[in-house]
Amino acid sequence: MNDRSEKPIVDEERYPNGASSPTRHLEYRCPCGKGKIIEERVVGFGDYYAWLECKTCAKKYEIETGCGYLWKLVEK
Ligand SMILES: [Zn+2]
Repeated sequence: MNDRSEKPIVDEERYPNGASSPTRHLEYRCPCGKGKIIEERVVGFGDYYAWLECKTCAKKYEIETGCGYLWKLVEK
């Protein structure tokens, strides 16, 4: 399964406490539709984090992260 073709439901820049550079916060729907997948990109550093916020999907899938903001859902 590949969520990258899906449009994020949230796409905004956030400034964590005291941070001078923004974090891009993106949310996508999870496969079952009850929860979501969160992606946070630290602008200017190339770092990012992606995780599942859904108890149902977290049992079945995990997120595999690669370089260049390319993460994907893989079945456990
Ligand atoms: Zn789900």
